[in-house]
Amino acid sequence: MTATESSPTSPPPAADAGSATAASPDRTPLGTARAQLATAVGLLGYDDGLHAMLATPRREITVAVPLRRDDGSTELFTGYRVQHNISRGPGKGGLRYAPSVDPDEVRALAMWMTWKCAVVELPYGGAKGGVTIDPRRYSRTELERVTRRYTSEIMPMIGPERDIMAPDIGTDQQTMAWVMDTYSVNRGYTIPAVTTGKPLEMGGSLGRATATSRGVVHSTRAALADAGLGLGEVSVAVQGFGKVGSHAARFYAEGGAKVVAVSDQDGGVHDPGGLNVPALMAHVAETGSVVGFPDADPIDNRSLLGLDVDVLVPAAVEGVLDERTALGVKARWVIEGANGPTTADGDRVLAERGVVVVPDILANAGGVVVSYFEWVQANQAYWWTEHEIEERLEQRMLSAYAAVSQAARADGLSLREAALVIGVRRVAEAHQIRGLYP
Ligand code: GLU
Repeated sequence: MTATESSPTSPPPAADAGSATAASPDRTPLGTARAQLATAVGLLGYDDGLHAMLATPRREITVAVPLRRDDGSTELFTGYRVQHNISRGPGKGGLRYAPSVDPDEVRALAMWMTWKCAVVELPYGGAKGGVTIDPRRYSRTELERVTRRYTSEIMPMIGPERDIMAPDIGTDQQTMAWVMDTYSVNRGYTIPAVTTGKPLEMGGSLGRATATSRGVVHSTRAALADAGLGLGEVSVAVQGFGKVGSHAARFYAEGGAKVVAVSDQDGGVHDPGGLNVPALMAHVAETGSVVGFPDADPIDNRSLLGLDVDVLVPAAVEGVLDERTALGVKARWVIEGANGPTTADGDRVLAERGVVVVPDILANAGGVVVSYFEWVQANQAYWWTEHEIEERLEQRMLSAYAAVSQAARADGLSLREAALVIGVRRVAEAHQIRGLYP
């Protein structure tokens, strides 16, 4: 086993932390996240020392994750957990299993969790974990062993009061059950609040599985209302048909919107007259992909981004709206269901073209909001009704949207800039009020 922990005593110099500006050619997730932070720091007028603190993960661990495969051979993976900031409370954030996972991607995702939790006023910092693995190539029993070994290796860093995990790309409620079980067995008693997004049968919350998607649709409604429109008057294209995109497409259709295109990693389908989303979900349950859905034309992921629709929802991976693809966007609203789908350059192009972007740290915060509800319920061992959860989720999403939209109008900012300013300021204020130790 190799494990390294970087110390909070050696942050990079401010010049390094601030080197990725909005004009940076760096289109990586971390380049994007740092450019966004630099913009917010500039607007807030913070000094280099505070900027460096906000740009630098508080604590990181890298672990080797050996796997005994079902055929008896062994393979080695690398896993990470990054706590970007814990000034406002314990670290909170997902666990990603994907071949793209690397330390910088996890750092970017952890930083976005910090601002996201602050924007929706959760008493959390931001964290993220990942293992560089393509989960589709491994059996369920192999994924269970990877999850349990990864959890054991990062044990010193996590806990219900330290750092709470949730699903992300490539992981699900079963993964969270294995993490929770491994943690609990090692501690000697059951500790449900160490993960969220768990199955209902063992401490999960009603409404968690669809919470991110509901939040995406709540923020869409709010953005449309700013322009005097309702869901029933718009067409929508959704990129990504996983945990976020599939339910979002369903809620859009239920709300009266015309969902004209959706895609997943294998391809997409398009029907200008509107897709039958429940039938599409049944097709995916049967075949594993939206591809081949009858009565619709095939469309690739890139062309979907340039469709002539009112609302575009990137709900897959980072960086899909870069300088070039952003130029082709015809939608008037981009609602970021994914984390970091728009690069800094893509963002500039969209702004120049008058596209309203509801940023990830606001639009997709519904998931972590209900994760917080799940953690509160687990800590109290008292469970709320689905109605209570959905009502409180909607209220939190709408009030966060209202605060961001009002700040944007008052200060002449984009919604992303306003959300970042609010999130970053809340974190910086918590840090400053607590004071610097020693
Ligand atoms: N992975 C989700 C996100 O990126 C959820 C995180 C959580 O619930 O902790 O927001």
